[in-house]
Amino acid sequence: MNSVLDLAREDLRSRRGYVAASPARDSVRLHANEAPWCMAPDGIQTQVNRYPPPVSGDIIDRLCSLYSVAAGQVLVTRGSDEGIDVLMRSFCAAGRDSVLFCPPTFGMYRQCAEIQGAAIVEVPLLADQGFALDVDGILEAAQNSVKLVFVCTPNNPTGNPVATDAIRHLCCELSGRALVVVDEAYVEFSGRPGVAGLLDGLPNLVVLRTLSKAFGLAGARCGVVLAHPDIINLLRTVLPPYVLPTPVVNLLDEALQPERLLSLRENIAALLEERERVNEALMQSPHVVKIWPSAANFLLVRFRDARSVMQRCNRSGVLLRDFSHVPGLENCIRVTIGTADDNRRFLTALASEEAPR
Ligand code: PMP
Repeated sequence: MNSVLDLAREDLRSRRGYVAASPARDSVRLHANEAPWCMAPDGIQTQVNRYPPPVSGDIIDRLCSLYSVAAGQVLVTRGSDEGIDVLMRSFCAAGRDSVLFCPPTFGMYRQCAEIQGAAIVEVPLLADQGFALDVDGILEAAQNSVKLVFVCTPNNPTGNPVATDAIRHLCCELSGRALVVVDEAYVEFSGRPGVAGLLDGLPNLVVLRTLSKAFGLAGARCGVVLAHPDIINLLRTVLPPYVLPTPVVNLLDEALQPERLLSLRENIAALLEERERVNEALMQSPHVVKIWPSAANFLLVRFRDARSVMQRCNRSGVLLRDFSHVPGLENCIRVTIGTADDNRRFLTALASEEAPR
């Protein structure tokens, strides 16, 4: 193994990506079959008749300082969902390669693997150890055909973080055999720095970050893949051109300004206080059996009867995510922490009278 690219699909390694039209705006643009008029409403009319510019060097620089990485290690995607998908498509040959993940965990790993035709290897989290990662189990199960090992930290839906040492150990042991993809969608809520700082020493480490959670930009669809520059370059050739729409590029430019980042910290602190408040209130509830400690913006709660909790909350217009159907999560519901008012509505709905049967 000379290069981390030896793990990529062989047919993609030396492929050239699509060459998009030049983004230059100060020229007469007769090269991209765009219309010279625009049907968008006034507010966003600026230049949306033209294909989007690439994400600017300024935005990439801000992402680099946010995540402490170099520009060549950054790829912006339409949410982490697209980051997961493009990794599967780039590293897993259909019908030949496999993907490993650790249930109960985020459902898109399975979705993308199935769509790509990659086989799935599951190494369940250790339910009796607070859903800890089964590192030895992963190493045993990650045979030759496993190309991607997904580690979600803090994990969705269980909320627990994975120790950095475990991630380093997995990367070292799987070096030359598989990429370790660490999904840090919720890491900003955990008070931990994340593992992007390990990238320079671990070429088979890939980190997924997103602006959908702590940054409050889920509707903008903006995720970031952090990895070795060879991996980033390969993924870029697999992604379609013009990844982010012009209004989103403009929005990112503002959202990543330093003064906005200060308010981010305040918002996270307030959310963590709310999480504590909801946690305490739930501990007093006769409907609750167990609440798992959470390093994220949600709580995983086992109720006596999840179905009746879902019904009561639905009746009050409060939406929760029921995980009762997932093995090991019987009667478990994931509750996202919202505003103080949202959370109050949830707790009131929970305490409300059960519907007559
Ligand atoms: N990873 C995890 C663990 C998630 O929970 C989610 C969203 N629920 C994502 C990735 C996808 O995030 P994005 O909005 O950036 O696509």
